[in-house]
Amino acid sequence: MPIDTVAYHQIKNKLLPTNTTLVAVSKTKPAIDIEALYSMGQKHFGENYVQELVAKQAQLPQDICWHFIGHLQSNKVKLIAGFVHLIHAVDSMQLLQEINKQAIKNNRTIDCLLQVHIAQEETKFGFDICEIEALNFSQLAQNYKNVNIVGIMAMASFSNNAAQINKEFADVANLFISIKKNNKNFTTLSIGMSQDYEIALQNNSTLVRIGSLLFGSRNV
Ligand SMILES: *Cc1c(COP(=O)(O)O)cnc(C)c1O
Repeated sequence: MPIDTVAYHQIKNKLLPTNTTLVAVSKTKPAIDIEALYSMGQKHFGENYVQELVAKQAQLPQDICWHFIGHLQSNKVKLIAGFVHLIHAVDSMQLLQEINKQAIKNNRTIDCLLQVHIAQEETKFGFDICEIEALNFSQLAQNYKNVNIVGIMAMASFSNNAAQINKEFADVANLFISIKKNNKNFTTLSIGMSQDYEIALQNNSTLVRIGSLLFGSRNV
């Protein structure tokens, strides 16, 4: 299925007033679709399977900013550490430590987001809001010098209930704002997908991750 260029322009226009970053989520989609969107000026793409990301990164333009948005296993960090632009879903200190280790090996600093669990589903990864509130960010920066924690990422419940989604995004936005007050590294609030990105924008998302609206639905 070809990419939806009309949807692309509509989304870009909605993000323009707030200068919100669009990450085009290209998981399971062929390189040709990514090239089509890239040729329209899109630079940020998101993937959530390591092997797939590594293969695409090797064959696609080198100035693409690759976002790893899925659950990341520690033993796979080394495969993407050399090039990844932003890791969205850091959900344990052990993973953060491994990212730091691989960043050192690659002589770079890797930007990361902490994943916050806000959805009602039990299955989703991430820290609870109170766990994030308890973190000492300056200590983390000391311990992990090659990791830069630049914000938080969250997914809302799979729900048609806009009020529920709005409540979840508002909770995470408040958390983001409270940390940002004392932490100048905090620039990125990654909330919003195809179904809920407009609610995310109302809650001051700085980055949305959109797949199916651009690339069509995925076969799972
Ligand atoms: C797949 C995925 C998206 C994009 O989902 P769409 O509903 O297709 O926009 C966003 N974020 C994460 C973490 C994903 O896994």
